[in-house]
Amino acid sequence: MKFATLPDGEKVPALGQGTWMMGERRDRRAAEIAALRAGVELGMTLIDTAEMYGDGAAETLIAEALGEVRDQLFLVSKAYPQNASRKRLAAACDASLRRLGTDRLDLYLLHWRGSVPLGETVEAMEALKQAGKIRHWGVSNLDTADMEELVLAGGGACATDQILYNLSRRGPEHDLLPWLDKHEMPVMAYSPVEQGRLVTDPALANVAGSIGATSAQVALAWALRRDGIIAIPKAGTVAHVRENHAAAEFVLSDDDLAALDAAFPRPRDRRPLEML
Ligand code: NAP
Repeated sequence: MKFATLPDGEKVPALGQGTWMMGERRDRRAAEIAALRAGVELGMTLIDTAEMYGDGAAETLIAEALGEVRDQLFLVSKAYPQNASRKRLAAACDASLRRLGTDRLDLYLLHWRGSVPLGETVEAMEALKQAGKIRHWGVSNLDTADMEELVLAGGGACATDQILYNLSRRGPEHDLLPWLDKHEMPVMAYSPVEQGRLVTDPALANVAGSIGATSAQVALAWALRRDGIIAIPKAGTVAHVRENHAAAEFVLSDDDLAALDAAFPRPRDRRPLEML
């Protein structure tokens, strides 16, 4: 397994598991539990969730699937922006901890920016850290100017920015990825297979076919090609988890990368950070 380094030097797996849309359907529950467990056994121990996902149902599923191996996990959850205030963040965190059946989060993120001033969220996150309820905190869906503002507001201890980044969403390469690199903050790349849309993309299938890998594997290997990226695909079956795990061992050659650049060029001009 490849690892990424947090600003304090802690290493986390560069390939984790997302959980959006999990825990919401009874007929998929057994397969989702098996998938999460298989991923952890393969070393994909970073688990990403949020209070938003299924209104807490994804967190509850994680507790059921992985409660017994909690100490092996790096658990990430996220708070709604309206809960990211001095008054409300502690209660939101407690509710996530309760659903996850644990006494601490390894990383707690502001899900996206809302009307609470960033400085107030920083204070509330630091208070949770002091209380031992979270080990690190970070943000999600913040563009470069927001990150600058966060640091000026006292948020220099931010551990990561979780953003939409994949072959078809290369906008962050203009200035956000360089900014995060400079501040030694790894990027968490969400929707790394574009919610499944990249898997059916003919241009990607072409490149993947020539390499002898699947489209999902090439999309993930591409995201992991540079240091400081943590990709968090969501897979609801053991077969998809195994396939995705194999991508972490896959190194794309310069020719492969050139073919992918041709098929999925980086946008010419800077554009605002996209989100899903
Ligand atoms: P994603 O991981 O890009 O795609 C998930 C979809 O791809 C599912 O339909 C899954 O199907 C399919 N898939 C996965 N592996 C596959 C494979 N090897 N072959 C074929 N299909 C495959 O999209 P995502 O769930 O939006 O993003 C991943 C995670 O990032 C989320 O679950 C969530 O934890 C996080 N996220 C965060 C934000 C944010 O605002 N911070 C936004 C979006 C997502 P199966 O389920 O059938 O395996």
